[in-house]
Amino acid sequence: MGRENCIQVRGARVHNLKDVDIDVPRNALVVFTGISGSGKSSLAFGTLFAESQRRFLDSVSPYARRLIDQVGEPDVDSIEGLPPAVALQQQRGAPSARSSVGSVTTISNGLRMLYSRAGEYPKGQGILYADAFSPNTPDGACPRCHGIGRVFDVTEDLLVPDKAKTIREGAIAGWPPAWGGQNLRDILISLGYDIDTPWQDLPQATRDWILFTDDAPEVPVYARMTPQETRRARAENRSPTYMGTFTSARNYVLQSFTTTQSARTKKRVSQFMDISVCPECDGKKLKRESLSVTFEGLDIGQISRLTLNDLATLLQNAADREPVANDMNPEKGIVAQRITLDIMARVAALTRLGLGYLSLERNTVSLSPGELQRLRLATQIRSQLFGVVYVLDEPSAGLHPADTQALLGALDELKGAGNSLFVVEHDVSVIKHADWIVDIGPGAGTHGGSVVYTGPVDGLRAIDASATARHLFADARAEGRTPREPQSWLRLAGVTRNNLNDLDIDLPLGVLTTVTGVSGSGKSSLVSQALVEFVGDALGQKPAVEASENEPELLEQEMDTPTGGHIVDGMQHIQRLVVVDQKPIGRTPRSNLATYTGLFDHVRKLFAATDKARARRYDAGRFSFNVAKGRCPNCEGAGFVSVELLFLPSVYAPCPVCRGQRYNDETLEIRYRDKTIAEVLDLTVEGAHDFFADAPAIARAISALREVGLGYLRLGQPATELSGGEAQRIKLATELQRAQRSDTLYVLDEPTTGLHPADVTLLLAQLDRLVAAGNSVIMVEHNMLVARQSDWIVDIGPGAGGEGGKVVAEGPPAQVAQSSTSKTAPFLFPAAH
Ligand code: ADP
Ligand code: ADP
Ligand code: ZN
Ligand code: ZN
Repeated sequence: MGRENCIQVRGARVHNLKDVDIDVPRNALVVFTGISGSGKSSLAFGTLFAESQRRFLDSVSPYARRLIDQVGEPDVDSIEGLPPAVALQQQRGAPSARSSVGSVTTISNGLRMLYSRAGEYPKGQGILYADAFSPNTPDGACPRCHGIGRVFDVTEDLLVPDKAKTIREGAIAGWPPAWGGQNLRDILISLGYDIDTPWQDLPQATRDWILFTDDAPEVPVYARMTPQETRRARAENRSPTYMGTFTSARNYVLQSFTTTQSARTKKRVSQFMDISVCPECDGKKLKRESLSVTFEGLDIGQISRLTLNDLATLLQNAADREPVANDMNPEKGIVAQRITLDIMARVAALTRLGLGYLSLERNTVSLSPGELQRLRLATQIRSQLFGVVYVLDEPSAGLHPADTQALLGALDELKGAGNSLFVVEHDVSVIKHADWIVDIGPGAGTHGGSVVYTGPVDGLRAIDASATARHLFADARAEGRTPREPQSWLRLAGVTRNNLNDLDIDLPLGVLTTVTGVSGSGKSSLVSQALVEFVGDALGQKPAVEASENEPELLEQEMDTPTGGHIVDGMQHIQRLVVVDQKPIGRTPRSNLATYTGLFDHVRKLFAATDKARARRYDAGRFSFNVAKGRCPNCEGAGFVSVELLFLPSVYAPCPVCRGQRYNDETLEIRYRDKTIAEVLDLTVEGAHDFFADAPAIARAISALREVGLGYLRLGQPATELSGGEAQRIKLATELQRAQRSDTLYVLDEPTTGLHPADVTLLLAQLDRLVAAGNSVIMVEHNMLVARQSDWIVDIGPGAGGEGGKVVAEGPPAQVAQSSTSKTAPFLFPAAH
């Protein structure tokens, strides 16, 4: 490798890296491998990408330089030959902005241009600017729904479900709970309304005013006074407790719904609303005039609802046609063709990555992190940048093996355009496609952080110390096993959701079941959506509200799409449902591994029980960073302060007062053994294992975390730093440490994301333990190691979107492997390489 063609890293010590020296080729596909926690991301993202970004920021603004001082530079002696870098990282717990597939890929802009310049206008209508086709501009938005596509209304029946109640008894269910409701009732008293007569006996005019008025009178409120006392107080002009402003129930509900940032509030008030598709624009969000313009017979709303596959066909047809020669406007045909070709190329980049089942109007919050990353990847391919390094985090996540080829094609294309690719990956076919491998390890955390191998793929074969080598060159056929027999069946009928249409399906219980199929075939619709909803309903288990906290858009979408179908039989075998999903365990640096698993409660008690803490009367609350007395007052226990950066996403920097320790000095004077509470939070799970060996409650939680391969995480690692896969395994570990029960149905969505094959084996052993204890596991998976080791496979497909949604094959792995129609079958037991 010539010096001019490589990036030279010297002395990298980020996180667990042990003074790593390495030369990595440029203009090549470089894959970073190694077990979870070995240090792949620390090298690819923490060192190479961070340094490139630092140099870039450094060159643009002095403000950014100050920020870099705060965030810290990567701990590395030198890096030479490093081009600018673009990271396509999977989203880690960051709240996502409202956006659609069309906006993220900028295809919507192209379509607006197309409709503006080359659409068919009704006779007599003037040309519209592109903005008129965007619901986010005053020029385009439907005047009735203001570009939302839905209209909201409230009725007396919804707001006051029990009309026999008085207002004091809470007749107006639509009003806020707790203090807010009390306040409004007190205001009514001041206004002279009778709140002790049953609602149904109040005059209709009174009822209408309280529920629907737009007036918001401000009146003196006398808290805790009876109506008579209030009347007297007002008459005597006594000074009130405070001044209160009235809000009608309708205004409260509608305003809360549109302005709240909390999904919980949104969900609560939505019960009192009638939500329907806007009759004016039919949910297309645009004004009439804009919708009257068509292309190939469709308005822009209709075209945005097509799947990308169908859109590609439609555009192809349009492009194939000769530009109309005798058109009134001779340029129009040519303009149309030029824009059409550009959009087609963008759409093709998406369909080739297996995303053809998406539509442009699809909200990105409903996409999986893997889908979103591929969406960004496809957008990059069209951006025609060259000479940059793309750093990617497991781009194969969520991809069926049959779709991986397309991904490799996309990566090759970026490389062909003169770029370098650094990819952190576990997928065997991606690893085998690499020009260059950097294998980090050999173990995780302190047992890793060294370069085990660097060079072309084949050379890895000879490296005994590499866990990657063992799996890369293993014979799949040796990995099968004798499947367990289903104990009973959960029978579903008429399942209708997304692309599932009246599907009947029997799922085995008492075994480990894997649901496979190409991306978009309907696996999540069946398992994570319909199944979870049906079983949850049957058990009277409410879906966890906190799961969609801060995701109001997602919630809106859920309310829009009801699920059809029901359970025919089998619920007698299920006592409990546990969904272990990839949603973040928290969205701020305040939630972390230790708090989520509950082990921190025990740790705090240990600190409170030390002699010094007892002498100072510090209780366990003192050691919580959520309680004022013990924490750092500057960052209020977060350890981080958020720094706003113009034009860039805000970043968290360590708190300058406590230097990221979260606690005040007095609290840090207490030590358990030799460590402060901050130092304990800085321990890895692995380190905590020895430190807390004699504290049974903590040791149990720690063991469970190690068993799912998370030994490398720090106890205080903020939720925002965890990947979806790590969050899922933390949930699984939390579940595993509970007392073993039987008759529980576990539902998982791609639990192997982010896992090295060696860790997958660990995970499978855990799931097997659950099944052995009399439970059932049903999971969506692309990982063929998992599929062939499960007891039962349900293959959904055959294709994606409208071409999927059916059961293609079902049965034990060996049987499914025989299917001639299943796209999964050929990958189950491939011949040895
Ligand atoms: P991989 O990408 O191979 O799974 P990572 O590079 O994420 O591994 O982690 C390597 C080690 O560095 C682990 O021990 C992990 O706990 C630690 N680590 C990761 N992120 C941080 C961080 N922000 N601060 C301190 N340690 C970290
Ligand atoms: P898989 O899990 O097999 O990748 P999904 O169940 O996610 O497939 O998707 C099946 C089909 O349903 C796809 O066409 C997808 O675009 C559509 N779909 C999934 N979720 C939603 C949603 N929230 N809104 C609209 N369409 C959806
Ligand atoms: Zn409308
Ligand atoms: Zn602080």
